[in-house]
Amino acid sequence: MTIFQKIIDGDIPADKLYEDDDILAFRDIQPVAPIHILVIPKKPIVSVATATDDDQQLLGKLMLVAAKVAADQGLAEDGYRLVTNIGQQGGQSVFHLHVHILGGRQLQWPPG
Ligand code: 5GP
Repeated sequence: MTIFQKIIDGDIPADKLYEDDDILAFRDIQPVAPIHILVIPKKPIVSVATATDDDQQLLGKLMLVAAKVAADQGLAEDGYRLVTNIGQQGGQSVFHLHVHILGGRQLQWPPG
């Protein structure tokens, strides 16, 4: 079981900003930007690489909720970044699909 499943189940606390039947958003415990939020499906999908056609609607909703949470945080005007890391070389450390919302400072490109 991943740490995010424990957050979904309420077994460990998180600073939640959005929740519905399908999606949960909470602040990252080790922020790398002034605003750093994780948006996850409650369904235990490992990454977009293992998602299936059945997940099409859920993945769309994940992105739309991420944009809504970002807007609620006041990031829409200046902009922000949505990132989903996949596998070892992608830098994924928690194997439950999540979209990072990063904002509140000028972000660099390319990433490291
Ligand atoms: P990844 O490296 O898999 O793309 O991102 C995982 C993220 O989860 C990291 O940014 C890390 O700081 C965050 N994280 C890991 N454990 C916890 C936790 O227990 N609570 C919260 N809120 N974030 C966590």
